[in-house]
Amino acid sequence: MIIFFKANTNNTQTAELQLHLSQLGFESQLVQKLGICIAPALLDTNFLTRFDFIERAQIISSNFQLSSLAYKKETSFAVNDIQIGTHFANIIAGPCSVESEKQIFETAAFLSKNNIKFIRGGAYKPRTSPYSFRGLGKDGLKLLSEAAKQYNLSVVTELMDLSLLDEVLNYADIVQIGSRNMANFFLLGELGKIEKPILLKRGMQAKVNEWLLAADYIMSGGNEKVILCERGIRSFDPASRNVMDVAVIPLIQSMSHLPIIADPSHGTGDANLVPALAKASMVAGANGLMIEIHPNPSKALSDAKQALSFKAFENLLADIDKLKPAIQKPIDASYSFVV
Ligand code: PEP
Ligand code: MN
Repeated sequence: MIIFFKANTNNTQTAELQLHLSQLGFESQLVQKLGICIAPALLDTNFLTRFDFIERAQIISSNFQLSSLAYKKETSFAVNDIQIGTHFANIIAGPCSVESEKQIFETAAFLSKNNIKFIRGGAYKPRTSPYSFRGLGKDGLKLLSEAAKQYNLSVVTELMDLSLLDEVLNYADIVQIGSRNMANFFLLGELGKIEKPILLKRGMQAKVNEWLLAADYIMSGGNEKVILCERGIRSFDPASRNVMDVAVIPLIQSMSHLPIIADPSHGTGDANLVPALAKASMVAGANGLMIEIHPNPSKALSDAKQALSFKAFENLLADIDKLKPAIQKPIDASYSFVV
């Protein structure tokens, strides 16, 4: 249940309510920044009328609350004047890892030429093997942000650990939380305290419900700028790196107001499959795409197999342009589903 406060409700008033709830045996969580308090669904809400600073209380039937469609119909916000959410709009592209000045500047120049507004690149990489290339660290972040500045792009980069928060915030416009950290609840909680948008990738083993609860971890700290990113889930079949769950896009839109983008690069692990799944995701209703590209894919130091060449990416952009007129109508919101 979400209890909404009237404007100018003060700490004494909210403390009074929380004390009352705790005397009834209910734990509640105050989200001061959003002017709300989250409490278990109460059967009898009549006593709330005693607190004249309460505007209304809304029972939300799912365990995820703030990411639910019942809380809000739509989330849209701007990053450096570029709007995210509402409809298919944003493409984030760039290498898996920032590798060199030449690589990242060439990529930034190419993106800018193609009117792409967001550049991605990992500087601290989560690698399965500790002996693989693990990124350039702070030097990588600097190169990425210098290239972005030169070509007027916004930066998306992954935060691996809380110890790197301030450093990453210095360079990132959108903070990416990778699949491996989706369930790092302590980290998520801390991201609730910052202002920058969070790109929350789906854990490779995460159920939809767990993913939305992860979003709630961030939002209940006060940061509502969360973008979900489907990046494929693990299956029994090694034929593809992951199973790209395209169906989750309209499913999420029937459950949540949060923007959702698709990452078919990690979703498939294969550059030959990326364009098809990028288009499928777009047509399925994604608000955007995240695509790995590289000036020389076979030489990429991480995720070489899935990186699109510049030519292949341009071909994909041409296809996307052709598809755009077909998907500009809003998604039918009458279908609603709760797990
Ligand atoms: C990435 O975007 O480079 C990455 C490591 O993604 P994921 O967390 O989805 O594996
Ligand atoms: Mn990658």
